[in-house]
Amino acid sequence: MDRPTRAARPARDRDSLASPRAVGYARALIHNRDRARLSRADRDRLDELVAATSVARPRAADVSAVIDILKPLPARLPAGAGECEEAVYLVDGVVYRTRHGRRGLYADRLVLIGGRPGAPYEGGRWEYAAGAARRLAAADRLDVAEAAAWGRRTHVCVCGRALLAPGDGVHPACARRL
Ligand SMILES: [Zn+2]
Repeated sequence: MDRPTRAARPARDRDSLASPRAVGYARALIHNRDRARLSRADRDRLDELVAATSVARPRAADVSAVIDILKPLPARLPAGAGECEEAVYLVDGVVYRTRHGRRGLYADRLVLIGGRPGAPYEGGRWEYAAGAARRLAAADRLDVAEAAAWGRRTHVCVCGRALLAPGDGVHPACARRL
């Protein structure tokens, strides 16, 4: 007699969870590979996969897809002196901005406010992100198209203020500064 679990097995295999080691490796690649040379389609696919693997127990299939895309890429250059000016960055769906402070360049992270299911975000607040300025790379700098895509998704401009016209994705004045 066939047990009902047998029929369910293919689905379970497809949904099997990644090992902690694979997750650690994928995270390291996410952190240090330079994605600048990826095509737009690969970048979009990677963004989706990175989002899917940002959970506590990601699926093995998603994690190995991330590794497959990122492994052949060169390591990213650190945002060393002169490269990382005051600018806006997007890393794994989070917006950062860099500022010059008394102790050198530092970064803030834009934390979205609100956004209960079915409701748009109400805006964002900047929070100091310890150590982030060193990790931001030139390849992570936001361009206008990326800022607009992020804003259309969140209904928040990369400046942290809510968008009255979410379809624009970014305030015109903010787009000019990117
Ligand atoms: Zn704005």
